[in-house]
Amino acid sequence: MGDLFKSTKVTDAKRIVIKIGSALLVDEKHGTVHRKWLETLAKDIATAKARGQEVVIVTSGAIAVGRRHLDLPKGSLRLDEKQAAAACGNIRLAHAYQEVLGHHQMSVAQILVTLEDSENRRRYINARNTIETLLKVGAVPLINENDSIATDEIRFGDNDRLAARVAAMISADTLVLFSDIDGLYTADPSKDKNAEFIDVVEAFISPSIEAMAGGSASDFGSGGMMTKIAAAKIALNAGCRMVITKGNPLHPLKALEDGAKCTWFLPDATPKKARKQWISGSLKPMGEVIVDAGAITALKTEKSSLLPIGVKEVIGDFMRGEAVIVKGPEGEEIGRGLIAYGSEDARKIVGLKSSEIKEKLGYMGRDEMIHRDHLVVEL
Ligand code: GLU
Repeated sequence: MGDLFKSTKVTDAKRIVIKIGSALLVDEKHGTVHRKWLETLAKDIATAKARGQEVVIVTSGAIAVGRRHLDLPKGSLRLDEKQAAAACGNIRLAHAYQEVLGHHQMSVAQILVTLEDSENRRRYINARNTIETLLKVGAVPLINENDSIATDEIRFGDNDRLAARVAAMISADTLVLFSDIDGLYTADPSKDKNAEFIDVVEAFISPSIEAMAGGSASDFGSGGMMTKIAAAKIALNAGCRMVITKGNPLHPLKALEDGAKCTWFLPDATPKKARKQWISGSLKPMGEVIVDAGAITALKTEKSSLLPIGVKEVIGDFMRGEAVIVKGPEGEEIGRGLIAYGSEDARKIVGLKSSEIKEKLGYMGRDEMIHRDHLVVEL
């Protein structure tokens, strides 16, 4: 399992994000969900969960289902019409997933996200925690973009990138894009007979790989190969493997496990390492947390989270979820992390036991000032 990120076996995954495109899920003519296909996917997901894998679904198809149900005109819709269609379609989709997953005793929980949720630290940390909690209790998170309130400028617009952002956000190790194409070719295979199939792309997306994606976009779903390559970049950066395969066969996940044609994108680091690099290298620290000697030992040797009781002082003005530097009493850097409290509240709970937080702040915050998962300690 150590080299999971080099493996091309989906059964090796611990945490999988599965993206389901509109064209697979929705019967274009009637605007209904392909029920039989979805049932077979639910069975595959049940099998994956039974072997201990965590599964998150990113689904498209809300607009495709809703537009038909609301009898909206054919052709391209105005933004407000798409938003209305999505509002209607998301309910119908959620209902379909709830039913098929329910047959296998799986609970489904819906989260509709916007681009801002993956960019704004506070929202990001909430979205991440919610998904983590759902996975912990064994539910299957069902995610789509909140098309109904996101305006054009702040939309992802396609669920390929959304799925990759979600995978990065929750440190998933595997992203499966079920698509209407079986993988990446050197050119568009519908136009170029000499187009060659690519089995594996390693480490990063080179300009030549990018060029292969061309500009092909199917008109039904909004994700062409371009958005898939953009998704691959996000996934690889986050240490997450990504695979593109045709989703149409019944039991699509099983088909992939059994060796269906596909293209794997393999990162050169684990999600954990990539996340640590992101926290310690890419984020701008917005403040400092000075900790005592006991906390330093706990952080360094026991690999524990940073609790308020070990904090002596909070410096700077920052919001919950932002990056801060953790320093020792002499000003030496101990590490960096994403803090669970904004500076104002963090200052109020300095030195307190976790059990005293609620009384002090008037709400039940997190026990940790910085959770271990969001902390990089220099050893
Ligand atoms: N969020 C859109 C929907 O549910 C789909 C976007 C896409 O097709 O990638 O209808």
